[in-house]
Amino acid sequence: MLDLAIIGGGPAGLTAGLYATRGGLKNVIMFEMGMPGGQITGSSEIENYPGQDKVMSGLDLMQSWPAQAMKFGLKHEMSLVSSVSKNSDIFTLTTSDGKTFESKAVLLATGSVPKKAGFKGEKEFFGRGISTCATCDGFFYKNKEVAVIGGGDSALEEAVYLSKICSKVYLVHRRDTYKAAPSTIEHMKHTQNIEEVTNVSVEEVYGDNTGVLGLKVKSKEDGSIRDLNVPGVFVFVGRDVLNEPIKQEDGSFLCEVNEQGEVIVDLKMKTSVPGLYAAGDVRIDAAKQVVCAAGDGATAAVNIIEFLG
Ligand code: FAD
Repeated sequence: MLDLAIIGGGPAGLTAGLYATRGGLKNVIMFEMGMPGGQITGSSEIENYPGQDKVMSGLDLMQSWPAQAMKFGLKHEMSLVSSVSKNSDIFTLTTSDGKTFESKAVLLATGSVPKKAGFKGEKEFFGRGISTCATCDGFFYKNKEVAVIGGGDSALEEAVYLSKICSKVYLVHRRDTYKAAPSTIEHMKHTQNIEEVTNVSVEEVYGDNTGVLGLKVKSKEDGSIRDLNVPGVFVFVGRDVLNEPIKQEDGSFLCEVNEQGEVIVDLKMKTSVPGLYAAGDVRIDAAKQVVCAAGDGATAAVNIIEFLG
């Protein structure tokens, strides 16, 4: 019987593992289907992790995290957790390779992944001018023009955020109406250096070996092509929350989630089910930053130790 099963080995899961084992929990397994480190290991540049004042790759940033956590007894099981159920006070986890594990507490730290918009050049230039994170990459375009693709709350909020760093933001949207809160739309419309480019489809993002040089959009009204010469393109067309393990057979969830499938937690990272916690990008209102995910992981672990008494 495990004290704690951690699902996901990104910044949230690894930090929870460190705090839980260093805080005295004996049987803690972190289930991570790939190499520990999480989604930041796919980023070539991070410069906003406190205490690391050099621009470094995500892989370099995360390199020492697993060994630090495992020093205190955290174990890594390289498997994908396919389901979690609860019977009386015990959780049962099933992995995709058919193993089952019982645990007194579970932390879901599986993260979320941005959806792709599906235009030409998106894959080729991802991380080389195309980004899905304004907080992470906006600064690289200080005083430059950028484009934001999307028409929901995230796209509009991030366009406003970028407008404070960049000289101009083109807000590119396939419709002429937005699916965002009226106050967010109002805020965006009153931001002087945002130009709305609506009712268009993105034809392609193009560039060369230095990165993105621009994007071409096609008017849905007259088919004309407009070329936006920007070095940075930010795509906000939704996120897939990796909540599969807590999805039940009837399509419901083991604990409460919001409309986007993000796990609802309180300030202790506690879900609506006693003993089940969530941390990092998978939870509601996550800032989706490494430092925040790590903080969540620590908070969850401290409270799980208290829960287990
Ligand atoms: P993740 O890092 O997503 O980790 C979740 C882990 O869970 C993954 O390793 C995954 O393999 C595993 N997993 C998922 N489902 C299962 C399952 N069922 N079973 C087993 N394992 C599972 N943040 C910054 O602070 N600064 C930046 O500059 C920055 N740049 C970024 C650039 C890019 C390209 C990307 C993609 C993200 C960037 N971020 C940045 C955001 C940051 O990476 C995330 O906010 C952070 O990694 C979230 O941590 P997490 O632990 O919640 O989730």
